[in-house]
Amino acid sequence: MLLLMTELNPQAPGRLELVRRFVNTLDVEAGTDRLASTDGLLKWLREVDLLQAEQSVSDAQLRRVIAVREALRDLLRANHTDTPAPESAVQVLDQAARKLSILFTRSGGWTIGSAGTGVDFLVGELVTIVIGAMNDGTWRRLKACANDTCEWAFYDRSRARSGKWCSMGSCGNRAKQQTWRHKHAHAGRYAPSAVVSDGTSTDVR
Ligand SMILES: [Zn+2]
Repeated sequence: MLLLMTELNPQAPGRLELVRRFVNTLDVEAGTDRLASTDGLLKWLREVDLLQAEQSVSDAQLRRVIAVREALRDLLRANHTDTPAPESAVQVLDQAARKLSILFTRSGGWTIGSAGTGVDFLVGELVTIVIGAMNDGTWRRLKACANDTCEWAFYDRSRARSGKWCSMGSCGNRAKQQTWRHKHAHAGRYAPSAVVSDGTSTDVR
């Protein structure tokens, strides 16, 4: 049971959780968007402790933030099958990465940091976290739910990195039912009666 709970925990480790939460500001299934307005973005920034004093957001900045979010979602879709992400998504992130700076540390090392303020800082932070996750191997586990009416971002904790759905309790079971119905429909009138009588949950969404 403990193992099951661990596998179903959709939260990403460490700072990567901020990226997951950011992508999930759009709830595809419910059709609601936390970033539908500049006020919405300011409220979300406050929630994740990234709101700087006297900060305001322009419509153009909001559009840029949303472009970054959707580019990240494209990458999370590509994390399922190791297929390449769309060129347009890569371009958006390339553009965002130009806001980063290399910062030397006093201990003889270096780090990447967000040099901007306000929205630039947010975008820089997100890209910095993504780069870190790509380096430590956690990035490929951050995925968008394979149910295309859901697309909820989740962290895949399965051993083989083969998780497809945000949770087996909802999207996974739904996909199984669709597969069952699909098979059943194609079986036509030759379907054995045992299968038909087994379909007590065909009305479940
Ligand atoms: Zn889902």
